[in-house]
Amino acid sequence: MFYEPQAYEARRWPESYWRATCPSLPAHPPLAGRVKADVAIIGAGYAGLNAALELVERYGARVVVLEAAQPGWGASGRNGGFCCLGGAMMDGPDIARAHGADLAAEWARFEQDAIARVADNLARYRIDAQVSEPGELRLAASARDWARMQREGGRLLDPARLRAEGLNTAVYHGGALTEAGFGLHPLAYVTGLARAAQAAGVVIQGDSRVIRAEPVTEGWVLRTASGSLHARRVLIATNGYSDERLPRWLARRILPVISNIMITRPLTGAERDAQGWTRHLMAYDTRRLLHYFRLLPDNRFLFGARGGVSFRPAQVAQFARRARAAFEMIFPAFRAAETEYAWNGLVCLTASRAPYIGPVPGAGGLWLALGWHGNGVAAASEGGRRAARALMGDESAPPRLTRRPPPRLWLPRKPALRVGMALVSLLEGPLRPRE
Ligand SMILES: Cc1cc2nc3c(=O)[nH]c(=O)nc-3n(C[C@H](O)[C@H](O)[C@H](O)COP(=O)(O)OP(=O)(O)OC[C@H]3O[C@@H](n4cnc5c(N)ncnc54)[C@H](O)[C@@H]3O)c2cc1C
Repeated sequence: MFYEPQAYEARRWPESYWRATCPSLPAHPPLAGRVKADVAIIGAGYAGLNAALELVERYGARVVVLEAAQPGWGASGRNGGFCCLGGAMMDGPDIARAHGADLAAEWARFEQDAIARVADNLARYRIDAQVSEPGELRLAASARDWARMQREGGRLLDPARLRAEGLNTAVYHGGALTEAGFGLHPLAYVTGLARAAQAAGVVIQGDSRVIRAEPVTEGWVLRTASGSLHARRVLIATNGYSDERLPRWLARRILPVISNIMITRPLTGAERDAQGWTRHLMAYDTRRLLHYFRLLPDNRFLFGARGGVSFRPAQVAQFARRARAAFEMIFPAFRAAETEYAWNGLVCLTASRAPYIGPVPGAGGLWLALGWHGNGVAAASEGGRRAARALMGDESAPPRLTRRPPPRLWLPRKPALRVGMALVSLLEGPLRPRE
């Protein structure tokens, strides 16, 4: 595996706020003996469970999901709960330049569909995921970024306007508002999906890490410590937690990256007024090693930061201190609000800077759906649905951007990640209070 073993320790849940506020999680038993299915899915996150639901609801397929831990143990149960646009590491103009305006427009539709998919899932399966204020704010971390934002246009808010809107910080030079998206409780969403899938007839086996996939005459046999599953088709939906030997083709085609979250105690009304940040809107900044944050329904503050290259406790603690310092600089009036929860997890980048929804070349019946680039709440949900349709023969279901197999990354990834992060933070410089 790419990081230290503690990153993949499936018996231990992260000590997250989501886990603390979702106390009764169902325990799905492990796979036992020899079992058959039409489709096997590896990974019970948003991608795997949405694929399972689509396969049962649209095709009446017999589906078994194998999960190394329990549903939502991966990024799906520990993220920031931003149900938002995204999924690729390119924006619309980048995609249009590289692949044409048509393909960019198709991807933009997919991003919107993905948010609508999550809203539909919540309504259809009656999942109470504590949905919060719609819309999202992108904040300019430098005067240069603010100038670029102004050139791009949209619904712009300068610092005075941000303050008037209850979105005041000590750092950002302006912001752009989009109406798309909403905040949610990520673990409530994924466990709700698991319940819905089970109710629809999907078999979910927990504590069932797939250790091998073997081709047989009619499909594949997946082996776990306690059983084997024979299926004609297999979908691998393991994203940042992927074992790159499963399949070997995946080796060096993905880059798992750490994202970190801290949550404060509930902020008082006086603290929120003093800062001038009173809205529950989702917000993130323009830095590459970005910060993302939002006020939760109970007025705790969620603050996320990408970065870090190790799960060793000393390094995790060092990164947490850095994130806390950034939080206090951006929101000086929240300084007295101590951190009550902090955890991290893995997102997945690819060398094509886009997700991959497609077959493993040369391995008939074996499919992949992964690489959501840190933005999978919506993208992995709709991506899983499209993967299911593609797997059943509708190969035009995934957006074209996601149909290109990612190339291999030839640079040694750990040193490259370390150097890359150091370079980016050098180029971006430290966050500074606005003058
Ligand atoms: C800290 C953090 C914050 C984030 N914030 C946001 C956010 O606010 N908004 C957003 O859109 N995205 C966010 N993301 C990203 C988002 O959570 C992911 O893109 C999304 O959850 C991916 O879903 P998935 O189903 O593809 O994978 P995951 O949810 O990661 O699930 C993969 C599953 O596969 C299982 N697995 C792996 N190997 C095996 C095996 N061999 N056998 C069986 N099972 C296996 C794992 O146990 C895991 O449960 C964040 C991620 C992190 C870590």
